[in-house]
Amino acid sequence: MKTDLQIDTSYYKVLDLRQLTENTFILSMPKSRFKFVAGQHISLSIMGDYQSREYSIYSPEEADNLEILVKEVEGGYFSPKLKHLKAGDMVEVHGPFGKFGLDEKKRHTHQHVFVASGTGIAPFHSIVKSYPDLNYRIILGVRYAGEAYEIDDYDRERFTVCASRDEKGDFNGRLTEYLEKVEFAKNTCFYLCGNSDMIFDAMEILKSKGFDRESVTVEVYF
Ligand SMILES: Cc1cc2nc3c(=O)[nH]c(=O)nc-3n(C[C@H](O)[C@H](O)[C@H](O)COP(=O)(O)OP(=O)(O)OC[C@H]3O[C@@H](n4cnc5c(N)ncnc54)[C@H](O)[C@@H]3O)c2cc1C
Repeated sequence: MKTDLQIDTSYYKVLDLRQLTENTFILSMPKSRFKFVAGQHISLSIMGDYQSREYSIYSPEEADNLEILVKEVEGGYFSPKLKHLKAGDMVEVHGPFGKFGLDEKKRHTHQHVFVASGTGIAPFHSIVKSYPDLNYRIILGVRYAGEAYEIDDYDRERFTVCASRDEKGDFNGRLTEYLEKVEFAKNTCFYLCGNSDMIFDAMEILKSKGFDRESVTVEVYF
């Protein structure tokens, strides 16, 4: 992937906060001259607050607005504050950061399997919308199928929802149980994003299926 992007700090007025569920929302900011590669993240602060947190970019590379998908963490410091932002409030965006994204050399030659838990879907939304011709598959782990946000944005045939606490997903059970059951082509690149427990377990499963560390890229949220 390209890595020669300039890391910058910009101040933006919030455009919109789109509530997806009671505790999940999309925050939109004007993109202006901000450039990034799909899969990267930003560091965000609220003007007047000394704290910042990282968020994957949810919107595609060429979109007019810069968007992030946020889950409010109960008892957390920052995410509950984000939830109360309104159009016109000022935020500070630092970045872009990270190398989590497609390997350019393998983009057309490999199958790309995106494995996410919860809001770990965010960078994959950006990637899939930025590269519509990609040979991809998404495996998402959530508790309830309704936590598969904006699912119509994806090719439904390529998207498997693993729901562990209701029976409305494509697979009833944990993402890792699903991973154990499926077969993947030899030329598959895996991208894992979300909580560290899921990532650790998924890496062990992929290893047992014969995929080496080279074929797996990870982004740990917490
Ligand atoms: C590279 C990177 C990209 C990230 N991208 C996203 C993103 O796209 N969307 C997003 O919602 N978050 C994302 N995060 C997590 C985010 O940076 C914050 O950690 C999260 O918003 C919680 O911040 P907080 O201040 O509310 O909680 P804190 O007060 O910092 O922490 C409270 C506790 O919540 C735990 N925690 C953190 N995130 C979660 C979570 N999602 N679910 C459950 N527990 C959690 C922490 O481990 C901690 O124990 C990303 C993190 C990293 C490192």
